Amino acid sequence: PLSTTDHIESQRICVCVRKRPLNKQEINKKEIDVVSVPGKGTLLVHEPKQKVDLTKYLDNQIFHFDYSFDETATNDLVYKFTAKPLVQSIFEGAMATCFAYGQTGSGKTHTMGGDFTGRQQNSAKGIYALAAHDVFTYLNHRRYANLDLSAYVSFFEIYNGKVFDLLNKKAKLRVLEDDRQQVQVVGLEEVYVSSAEEVIKMIQMGSACRTSGQTSANANSSRSHAILQIVLRRNDRATTLLGKFSLVDLAGNERGTDVSSNDRSTLVETAEINRSLLALKECIRSLGMNSDHIPFRMSTLTKVLRDSFIGEKSRTCMIAMVSPGMASCEYTMNTLRYADSVY
Ligand code: ADP
Ligand code: MG
Repeated sequence: PLSTTDHIESQRICVCVRKRPLNKQEINKKEIDVVSVPGKGTLLVHEPKQKVDLTKYLDNQIFHFDYSFDETATNDLVYKFTAKPLVQSIFEGAMATCFAYGQTGSGKTHTMGGDFTGRQQNSAKGIYALAAHDVFTYLNHRRYANLDLSAYVSFFEIYNGKVFDLLNKKAKLRVLEDDRQQVQVVGLEEVYVSSAEEVIKMIQMGSACRTSGQTSANANSSRSHAILQIVLRRNDRATTLLGKFSLVDLAGNERGTDVSSNDRSTLVETAEINRSLLALKECIRSLGMNSDHIPFRMSTLTKVLRDSFIGEKSRTCMIAMVSPGMASCEYTMNTLRYADSVY
């Protein structure tokens, strides 16, 4: 059984992979599972029905991460080893980020738990709700009582390099950088919250906003990044920022390989997603190398997350999601190579 270790507590960057189970349609189509998780941090992409024998695999089929979660892992378990250690860090003044990365349908939204459109009761709580719950557990703990803190929530999406406020009717917002390189999303709603339930209400509201009124210009939420931020501020006159947790449900990465489209708007969209995911990789890498140069200007995504990439206390966790089926194999390999190259 897995156990939380000091190793993971002290690490600045944690990269994990989660494999989802085959779904009903895939089983009906007799889709073959080509992904195995033979060990705690190991993941293997193999030939159909090939026996899992670690000594017989090529280097390019085997990947090693901090943790690998197989199809039996619950959101609770994934949370415990990914985002949970970061929650405490924001009470110590850290900027923390947790990314869900992967192709559309691989389980990003299921894991983050932003599937709150109202149509479907979500029984398995995602990372959003679990993190919100822990934030209030810490907030009410006597250890942090003397800090005199309040929590706030923002929720926005980035589509085609533009920011839309999900807590304010998708208002289009500007991103400004001042001469001290501080980045600001001008006019972004930051809602005071006093319980995990209130956070969840905001997530439901924002998620409904995300999927409502979709025009052809934004037909599919899988082409945008959704960013939920839980912000801790001191109850002083300036409401000084203490820490921030950004939980990011990234746009599907499969368009990175879709160059066959001749629809111009799709091409622009694809280019933008590619640029932001590449920028993200570079920024996390710079963070891992303690580099002074963080190429955050490369995309809107990395720009708005700038303060999460700088500073000694920045912490990042990436959860790469993979589909198990053979039909997704190429996308799965792309996802794994990306996650592998982050650190
Ligand atoms: P994405 O956000 O990456 O496009 P979703 O989270 O919407 O993918 O997942 C696609 C479908 O697979 C959803 O119906 C979701 O409920 C289901 N699913 C994803 N991950 C899991 C899992 N670990 N266990 C069970 N069902 C899952
Ligand atoms: Mg999704």
